[in-house]
Amino acid sequence: MDKNDQDNKERGKIVFFCKDCEEIVDTNRVGRKYVYTCKKCRTKNVAFGTEKSIATFFRLDEKEEKKGKDKKKKSEKEGEEKKK
Ligand SMILES: [Zn+2]
Repeated sequence: MDKNDQDNKERGKIVFFCKDCEEIVDTNRVGRKYVYTCKKCRTKNVAFGTEKSIATFFRLDEKEEKKGKDKKKKSEKEGEEKKK
Protein backbone atom coordinates (compact mmCIF):
# COMPACT_ATOMS: atom_id res chain seq x y z
CA MET A 1 0.00 0.00 0.00
CA ASP A 2 1.25 3.50 -0.80
CA LYS A 3 2.06 5.24 2.45
CA ASN A 4 1.44 8.74 1.04
CA ASP A 5 -1.93 7.68 -0.24
CA GLN A 6 -2.84 6.50 3.21
CA ASP A 7 -1.73 9.81 4.72
CA ASN A 8 -3.87 11.74 2.29
CA LYS A 9 -6.93 9.79 3.28
CA GLU A 10 -6.32 10.47 6.94
CA ARG A 11 -5.57 14.16 6.59
CA GLY A 12 -8.11 15.01 3.91
CA LYS A 13 -7.59 15.90 0.30
CA ILE A 14 -5.53 18.84 -0.93
CA VAL A 15 -7.51 21.87 -2.04
CA PHE A 16 -6.55 25.19 -3.59
CA PHE A 17 -7.79 28.44 -2.11
CA CYS A 18 -7.66 31.69 -4.10
CA LYS A 19 -7.12 34.68 -1.82
CA ASP A 20 -8.57 37.01 -4.44
CA CYS A 21 -11.74 35.01 -5.05
CA GLU A 22 -11.84 34.06 -1.35
CA GLU A 23 -12.96 30.57 -2.14
CA ILE A 24 -11.70 27.13 -3.06
CA VAL A 25 -10.99 27.10 -6.77
CA ASP A 26 -9.61 24.97 -9.56
CA THR A 27 -6.06 25.83 -10.58
CA ASN A 28 -3.60 25.53 -13.42
CA ARG A 29 -0.06 24.54 -12.59
CA VAL A 30 2.60 26.82 -14.02
CA GLY A 31 5.40 24.89 -15.70
CA ARG A 32 7.29 22.52 -13.46
CA LYS A 33 7.34 24.91 -10.52
CA TYR A 34 5.13 24.68 -7.49
CA VAL A 35 3.18 27.66 -8.69
CA TYR A 36 -0.53 27.52 -9.33
CA THR A 37 -2.84 30.03 -10.90
CA CYS A 38 -6.52 30.41 -10.19
CA LYS A 39 -8.69 29.32 -13.11
CA LYS A 40 -11.21 32.01 -12.25
CA CYS A 41 -9.13 35.18 -11.93
CA ARG A 42 -5.76 33.82 -13.18
CA THR A 43 -3.69 35.31 -10.36
CA LYS A 44 -1.03 33.35 -8.53
CA ASN A 45 -2.56 34.35 -5.24
CA VAL A 46 -3.35 30.74 -4.47
CA ALA A 47 -2.67 28.82 -1.29
CA PHE A 48 -2.97 25.09 -1.00
CA GLY A 49 -3.28 22.59 1.78
CA THR A 50 -5.64 20.02 3.16
CA GLU A 51 -9.31 20.88 3.19
CA LYS A 52 -9.19 21.06 6.96
CA SER A 53 -6.12 23.30 7.23
CA ILE A 54 -7.36 25.67 4.54
CA ALA A 55 -10.77 25.92 6.15
CA THR A 56 -9.22 26.65 9.53
CA PHE A 57 -6.62 29.12 8.26
CA PHE A 58 -9.04 31.14 6.16
CA ARG A 59 -11.93 30.72 8.57
CA LEU A 60 -14.18 29.20 5.93
CA ASP A 61 -16.29 27.69 8.67
CA GLU A 62 -17.39 31.13 9.80
CA LYS A 63 -18.37 32.11 6.28
CA GLU A 64 -20.34 28.91 5.88
CA GLU A 65 -22.20 29.70 9.03
CA LYS A 66 -23.24 33.11 7.75
CA LYS A 67 -24.67 31.45 4.67
CA GLY A 68 -26.78 29.31 6.95
CA LYS A 69 -25.28 26.02 5.85
CA ASP A 70 -24.86 23.10 8.20
CA LYS A 71 -23.73 24.34 11.57
CA LYS A 72 -20.51 22.78 12.78
CA LYS A 73 -18.96 22.98 16.19
CA LYS A 74 -16.37 25.69 15.74
CA SER A 75 -15.50 26.24 19.39
CA GLU A 76 -12.83 23.53 19.25
CA LYS A 77 -11.06 25.11 16.29
CA GLU A 78 -11.12 28.57 17.83
CA GLY A 79 -9.50 27.17 20.93
CA GLU A 80 -6.63 25.80 18.85
CA GLU A 81 -6.00 29.13 17.17
CA LYS A 82 -5.73 31.01 20.43
CA LYS A 83 -2.79 28.86 21.54
CA LYS A 84 -0.39 30.85 19.32
ZN1 LIG B 1 -9.13 33.62 -8.08
